[in-house]
Amino acid sequence: MAVRKKQRLADYGLNSERVLWRGKGPGVFEQELGEDLEDKLMLTTVGKAVAWAQGSSIWPDTFGLACCAIEMMSIVSSRYDIARFGAEVFRSSPRQADLLIVSGRVAHKMAAPLRQIYDQMLEPKWVIAMGACASSGGMFNNYAILQGVDKIVAVDIHVPGCPPRPAAIVEGIVRLQEKIKAGVPPAYEIRGVAS
Ligand code: SF4
Repeated sequence: MAVRKKQRLADYGLNSERVLWRGKGPGVFEQELGEDLEDKLMLTTVGKAVAWAQGSSIWPDTFGLACCAIEMMSIVSSRYDIARFGAEVFRSSPRQADLLIVSGRVAHKMAAPLRQIYDQMLEPKWVIAMGACASSGGMFNNYAILQGVDKIVAVDIHVPGCPPRPAAIVEGIVRLQEKIKAGVPPAYEIRGVAS
């Protein structure tokens, strides 16, 4: 069954005498606005506003593992300036961060501390696996390296490369923003986290 599209101001909860005058048809104001009233009038929901605020103020945890971390550090420099996207505030405490960028290979020895940091972050929280090593173990197909950080934390975004250029990690953050603003739940809600 086709869903009827809202077309009248009254459909959006504006109940003035003029818009409740059903038989009169759309006013000149409504005709000028057209059908996409919600976009033009900036009507929204609390959920959308919260998602916009969350997506626009992602604070990454200060956590670097290997060579990828050097590229990650440069995203706060003037050349890449991640502040343009509200994500420049790297926090030294996981309790003040909501994004974990896993930047480099994860040795089995580091798996437990990494998971502890993830567990200490408050929800909602997101994870970016930066580079081939964090995503899959990369060239280190051996007993010492975890073959993909998604085995211990739920990953939202994978950024390919060895190492990814700073512009690539910036794009990863922008993609994450798009997911958050679109209302996509964090990965741990969709796939769960191994305990
Ligand atoms: S992906 Fe490449 S640059 Fe990144 S940690 Fe692995 S070897 Fe280093």
